[in-house]
Amino acid sequence: MSEKVPLLPQEATPASPAKFTLVIHGGAGTMDKSRSTPELRKQYKAALSRALLAGYTILNAGGEAMDAAVAAVSSLEDCPLFNAGKGAVFNVAGKNELETSLMLSCPPSTHPSIPPSRRGVGITLLAHARNPSQLARALYLSPESAPHTMFSGVSAESLGAPLGVELVDESYFFTEHRWREHRRGLGLPEEPLPYPGRGDDDSQAPLDQLPTGTVGAVALDVRGCIAAVTSTGGRTNKLVGRVGDTPVMGAGFWAEEWRVTGWARRVLRRLKGKSKTVAVGVSGTGDGDYFIRLATGSTIGRRMKYLHEPLSVAAKACVEELRRDGGIGGVIALDNGGNVAMPMNCSGMYRGVVYEDGVPKTAIFDDDELD
Ligand code: ASP
Repeated sequence: MSEKVPLLPQEATPASPAKFTLVIHGGAGTMDKSRSTPELRKQYKAALSRALLAGYTILNAGGEAMDAAVAAVSSLEDCPLFNAGKGAVFNVAGKNELETSLMLSCPPSTHPSIPPSRRGVGITLLAHARNPSQLARALYLSPESAPHTMFSGVSAESLGAPLGVELVDESYFFTEHRWREHRRGLGLPEEPLPYPGRGDDDSQAPLDQLPTGTVGAVALDVRGCIAAVTSTGGRTNKLVGRVGDTPVMGAGFWAEEWRVTGWARRVLRRLKGKSKTVAVGVSGTGDGDYFIRLATGSTIGRRMKYLHEPLSVAAKACVEELRRDGGIGGVIALDNGGNVAMPMNCSGMYRGVVYEDGVPKTAIFDDDELD
């Protein structure tokens, strides 16, 4: 008996477009092109390219979106130019309180015991995790010891330590330029430095002005899984204990996947060779209080899911909504078709993307082309 010929082209494995993409940001905000020098712009672009290549290496070897996004964010956390990990901003009391998050559209294939309902984690008020994004990954992968969705402070760090997460003295995060920015902001004398001789490897003032420098990565792997990872020191001179959007699921980050509904839409997608599953990931940066009040991250996903908007339309609408309320910022977003959106409502966002060709492309100001 001959095989039945399908009426419509057979679909590839669900959500498996067999291509990968990585998009990153290093913070959005008010940036003045005229204050920047070619050397400083070069330093930022080189740091963004390094982060893209760190993630690309993993994706190109068939690795997990989660691992690629954590590698890219770790690279930015280690770079004192950005407001995450080393180089994080200080709160009003002159302390670093770091925040991070991780969310996946589907569990990593290397950890089949993680239930899809686990989704992700957010962590706030960290003072010792050298790479907060690595703590997020460790807690996400340990539902037995860390069964919740939000964690904070020393208890999160002590959950991470036995999982191999590196903890450091708080002086590790110190950089002179962030200290001076903190003291100047409070109208205090910039001297004395709390750790003289430490962190002065970055004598140049950062290009961004308040409140920028948060870092994030959204990766799509060859299995069609999307991971969003974000890390920040928050806002300069924030109140002690302030929680921003970065650890709040649905505000500063989001990832999800769903089956397309509606007969006509499904047929159309099939004819175009697209998966019947849509996946999306989002990482935001900007004034986090607005992201929280508007649930910016999840609204992008929900607009796509319920209004059937393409990624670029949904992301742009949400960034415009922020602007209308007075919240400056931007997002990076990626879907499982490999579509990338990087809208912002301010003069700049450090950003970059790498596709399968392995050529990292970066940009800083709103009118810059990626190159
Ligand atoms: N969204 C971060 C916060 O409000 C800051 C930033 O993205 O620059 O904590």
